Amino acid sequence: MSPVLEGQLEPLYAELLRRNPGEEEFHQAAREVLETLGPLLAKRPEFLEAKVIERICEPERQLIFRVPWTDDSGQVHVNRGFRVEFNSALGPFKGGLRFHPSVNLGIVKFLGFEQIFKNALTGMSIGGGKGGSDFDPKGRSANEVMRFCQSFMTELYRHLGEHTDVPAGDIGVGGREIGYLFGQYRRITNRYEAGVLTGKGLGWGGSQVRTEATGYGSVLFIAEMLRVRGEDMDGHRVAVSGSGNVARHAIDKAHQLGATVITCSDSSGYVVDEKGIDLELLHQVKEVERGRVGDYVERRGGAARLVEQGSVWQVPCDVALPAATQNELTESDAVTLVRNGVTAVAEGANMPTTPEAVRVLREAGVAFGPGKAANAGGVATSALEMRQNASRESWSFERAEEQLAQIMRHIHTLCHDTAQRYDRPGDYVAGANIAGFEAVAEAVLAQGV
Ligand code: GLU
Repeated sequence: MSPVLEGQLEPLYAELLRRNPGEEEFHQAAREVLETLGPLLAKRPEFLEAKVIERICEPERQLIFRVPWTDDSGQVHVNRGFRVEFNSALGPFKGGLRFHPSVNLGIVKFLGFEQIFKNALTGMSIGGGKGGSDFDPKGRSANEVMRFCQSFMTELYRHLGEHTDVPAGDIGVGGREIGYLFGQYRRITNRYEAGVLTGKGLGWGGSQVRTEATGYGSVLFIAEMLRVRGEDMDGHRVAVSGSGNVARHAIDKAHQLGATVITCSDSSGYVVDEKGIDLELLHQVKEVERGRVGDYVERRGGAARLVEQGSVWQVPCDVALPAATQNELTESDAVTLVRNGVTAVAEGANMPTTPEAVRVLREAGVAFGPGKAANAGGVATSALEMRQNASRESWSFERAEEQLAQIMRHIHTLCHDTAQRYDRPGDYVAGANIAGFEAVAEAVLAQGV
C-alpha cells in the first residue's frame, strides 16, 4: 500500500474492490487516481466528509444490453453492449464506444472513470462515460458492421441525447461506424439531433480536426513537456505503437514538427522504418484496405522491417508514444526505454503504461504525460463539434486546429502548475489527477446529494 493510500483512502479502496469484484482494469485506474489525491484532501477535508470520492467512484448508471445481429450468411449472433454513464456533474456524459472482443464491464468502467477527469481537464463542460461491445469487427464485411451498429443503437438510443449522453468512437469505432449509429438514431427518433454523437462526417455535422485531434493533441502535449525542459521535437527519434487513428495522426504531427517516427504496430507485430513511417502507405494499408502492418513492410520496398515477436519499446528512441491499448508498456519495457535514453513518454492510448512502468520512468526523471491529459485532444475536439452543432456553424480546419492547440497548452499548464502547487513538481500524473478530480468534486459538492 502506498503511503497516501494508508489511512483514510485505504478503506475507500478496499470498499471499491469489494463492490466491483474482478474488474482489474477499473481497480488499477481508480487506485492510480486515489494514490495521488492525498495532498488535495489534506487541504479540502470537506471532500472526504461529503463522501465525494465514493460518489465519484460509483457510476451514476450502468447499462448492459443484448445486441443480436445476423451475419452475411444469415446466421444469428448475440453480443453484449455496455454504456457506463459515470458522472454528469460537469456536463452530459461524454466518451467513446469501443468494439473489441476484450470489452467487458471492468474495461468500460476503467475507461469511463478515466474519462471523467480527462473531460474535466479540458474545461469544456462535459461529464464522463464510456461504452462498447465485445463484438469483433475484424474480418466482418461493411454490411455486417452496419447491421451490428443498427442493433446496438436500437437499444442505446433511448439513453442518449445531446444534453444527456453523447458517445463517440474509440478502438473499433471510427467514422464509418459513427455514420451507421447516427443513421439509426435519426431513423428511430425522427430527429436530426447532430449533437448526440461526435466524430461525424464533415458533410453532416462533423468537425474539422476531430479525426486528427487525439494524435495531434498528444504530440502537442509532448512538445509542451519538452519546451519546459528547454527542448523541442525537432530532430527527435520517436517510437509509436499502434497504427489506428490515434497513432497515424500522432505520426503526422510529429513529422510536421521535425521529428522522425520510426515505428508503428498492430496485433501482428511491429514495424521499424528508419527513414520514417510513410504515412500515405500506412493509411492505404490500415484504413482503406483494413490490412496488417506486414502489408506495409512488403510494399515499402526494403526500407522497413517487420518484427513479429517482442516489444516495440526495444527500439531505441528519444520519445515514446504508446497509442495502441491498455497496459501495453510494461516495467521491463520502461527499463529498456530508460537504458536507451528516452526523455519523454506520453500516453496516446488510455492507460497503456502499467503502474510499475510509470514508476520506473518517473524515477529516471523521464517526462511522463498520462493519457487523461495527453490524449484529451480527441474529446476536447468532440466538445468543439458539439459547440458547432449547437450554433449550426462549421469552422475551418485552421480555426479548429488553433482551438485544439490552445486547449492542449491549457491542459499542460494546468497539470504542470497543479503539480507544482501541491509539492509534486514535474509529476504530471499527480497534476492531472488532482486538477481533474478537484473540478469534478467541486461540482458534485455544489450540486448536493
Ligand atoms: N474515445 C476517445 C477518448 O478516449 C474520445 C471520446 C470522445 O470524443 O467522446 O477520449
